[in-house]
Amino acid sequence: MPNTVSPDVTMRGPTGERPLTVVAGVHGDEQSGVRAVERVLDAGHEFERAVRFVTANPPAVDAGERYLDVDMNRVFPGDADSEDRERRLAAELLDIIGDAPAIALHATHATSEPISLVSREQPGAVETAAGMATTPVVDTTDTVEGGLNRFGQVVTVETGKQGTEEAVETGVSVVEAFLRFHGALPGETPDAAPTFYQEDSVIEKPDDAPEDATCEDLYDLHVENFERVDEGDVWATVDGEELIAEEAFIPILMSECGYDDIFGYKGHVAGETLSTAREHWDLE
Ligand SMILES: [Zn+2]
Repeated sequence: MPNTVSPDVTMRGPTGERPLTVVAGVHGDEQSGVRAVERVLDAGHEFERAVRFVTANPPAVDAGERYLDVDMNRVFPGDADSEDRERRLAAELLDIIGDAPAIALHATHATSEPISLVSREQPGAVETAAGMATTPVVDTTDTVEGGLNRFGQVVTVETGKQGTEEAVETGVSVVEAFLRFHGALPGETPDAAPTFYQEDSVIEKPDDAPEDATCEDLYDLHVENFERVDEGDVWATVDGEELIAEEAFIPILMSECGYDDIFGYKGHVAGETLSTAREHWDLE
């Protein structure tokens, strides 16, 4: 038998049905989420609804590694009998979350602005993201397989750049906005209006790049995330060669060196308001 390891769960608030869940540490090298949760727990809040605070992958957090066997945020719904610890942890985490609202905190290399990632197949998560007023909200249904947000009413939030104090502070505000929106903390959520985007495809890096060149020397992006690129625009140079957009797109989570194999994603605007996005996605 593989040795057993489970997500760490801290319960707060009155006992009740369908506790909210706040998840950190799906990726062990994104510790801003774990710190943000510690701060929320230490802030002396009186929770008015049951909340579970969960560290999803404790051994990876302890090791400071993204994952130990497989990338946990690509193997949901997981498998309780798997040899891979992240597959077992993924199955356990989904059991913990159930069908109640949840958020999962992540950090990125691509941008310091907070971004909510949802699946349009989980309308409750779309509502939560709109209600937390984090902006922008991005639907990753067509581009990311095996992510947690495909299997529960979960909003995945990229709170900022990995390893920064700013990502921790943003994480605290995001968790508190989530808890206010769902009645676990008193007070109003901010009255901001997120724009809704949909990712259409992954932008791969060319695989014929010289192996001895560093990423920074090789790639140069000429676009800003969430700013429209028109057909015919030069959107990047790779080793001096210009890449021209064959169609208009919105760059999402793009960076030169954040990922090994991809720059990020191409997408489009799904709606400037929750109701237009819901229409676009044909949600009830
Ligand atoms: Zn992550």
